[in-house]
Amino acid sequence: MTTSRNRSRSTRDYQQLDAAHHINAFLDQKALNQEGPRVMAEGKGVYLWDTDGNKYLDGMSGLWCTNIGYGRQELIDAATRQLQQLSYYNTFFHTTHPAVNELSELLFSLLPGDYSHVIYTNSGSEANEVLIRTVRRYWDVAGKASKKIFIGRHNGYHGSTVGSASLGGMKFMHEMGDLPIPNVVHIGEPYWFAHGGQLSPAEFGRQCAQELEAKILELGADKVAAFVAEPFQGAGGMIFPPESYWPEIQRICRQYDVLLCADEVIGGFGRTGEWFAHEHFGFQPDTISIAKGLTSGYIPMGGLVLSRRMGEALVEHGGVFAHGLTYAGHPVAAAVALANLDTLQREGIVERVKTDTGPYLQKCLREVFDQHPLVGEIQGTGLVAALQFCQHKPTRQRFANENDIAWRCRTIGFEEGVIIRSTLGRMIMAPALVINHAEIDELIDKTRLAVDRTAAEIGVL
Ligand code: PMP
Repeated sequence: MTTSRNRSRSTRDYQQLDAAHHINAFLDQKALNQEGPRVMAEGKGVYLWDTDGNKYLDGMSGLWCTNIGYGRQELIDAATRQLQQLSYYNTFFHTTHPAVNELSELLFSLLPGDYSHVIYTNSGSEANEVLIRTVRRYWDVAGKASKKIFIGRHNGYHGSTVGSASLGGMKFMHEMGDLPIPNVVHIGEPYWFAHGGQLSPAEFGRQCAQELEAKILELGADKVAAFVAEPFQGAGGMIFPPESYWPEIQRICRQYDVLLCADEVIGGFGRTGEWFAHEHFGFQPDTISIAKGLTSGYIPMGGLVLSRRMGEALVEHGGVFAHGLTYAGHPVAAAVALANLDTLQREGIVERVKTDTGPYLQKCLREVFDQHPLVGEIQGTGLVAALQFCQHKPTRQRFANENDIAWRCRTIGFEEGVIIRSTLGRMIMAPALVINHAEIDELIDKTRLAVDRTAAEIGVL
């Protein structure tokens, strides 16, 4: 199929414009400019087309955000209506607007547990920036102003701005620009395949959680504000912690009065088959960072959800919280988010991930890759999964050049017409939640071709 819109410009024209003016995300711009990026032009459902007319099954739902798939008319209509009615207004200086209030009403009806307030932002990074200031403000008003330190995890990802990249534990990001900021420290990640040694997953999960307790005791509980983590690590390789991990983390946070902050920027809005990933893992965070699936990526929007304890304390204390973003709660973004959540709910899409498409994807992956010579571990639930590449399964020995191997697999995937992502030595997938069985079959078949070709190239098949 070729793209339907007639373009006066060629792929090369767009590549040249990109090279002339654009600094793209997370890559070596010089190398990219020589190669030229793919130019994506159209999307429908789970498929994308580039300007050369190549069709791809998008196994990553953009950047794990187009939960409802590309091109849904309900969202387009909601944006159009809102643009016609009130294209912009803010929530500063004693004003609000219907779109943001109607979104909040639906959002809190979907949230399990006792949450009362949300601070809207434009992205996940901003949600986590806001988290730092809001948590410190909370401890100030709660009379525990000495609680200032945040504990994150190595290889966690919370965004690309100064504060959010500090909370994250990406070493290569910290090395650029003197991060982390003061009062942010990190503990290990619950990545059993890489770091579990001779321990069982359950023992390792508990041990990782107890690292948090040791760190709190080392720093002093009166100094520690919060523990910040993704329920499952996304950009760090779609790493699912052992089942023993989250209950123990929750126990420790409660015992030492340390806020438990879940970054649900990827996990939120149905990815695991629950509305929020912390429900899947069985814990109850104090804050929830949201973005991506909130609008299915149609328009930027994020937010920080607060427990009733925090929200009401901030409100009841009174006084100005000196924070505000011009576009936070933007009416058009709010209208799109409302239409998105409403459609996900009305069509039972999250329920379907839990009972049908999620189990089907997980079953097919295990049938196809369990015995594959290149794959040492398969993790995932709902519509999110990872394949761990490894050299020697019994010892969980990883390839020294696992990054290159996984990157090669990703490139072959594009040639086969499927988009899967490589992170460290893992291939990860998170398709749109509207994917059907036939499309899952295609995703698996094409992923298998990519993994087989990669294995053949390095001589393990
Ligand atoms: N938190 C997590 C868990 C993420 O995966 C991301 C983005 N991949 C972010 C925060 C940052 O979100 P954004 O790119 O919208 O700033």
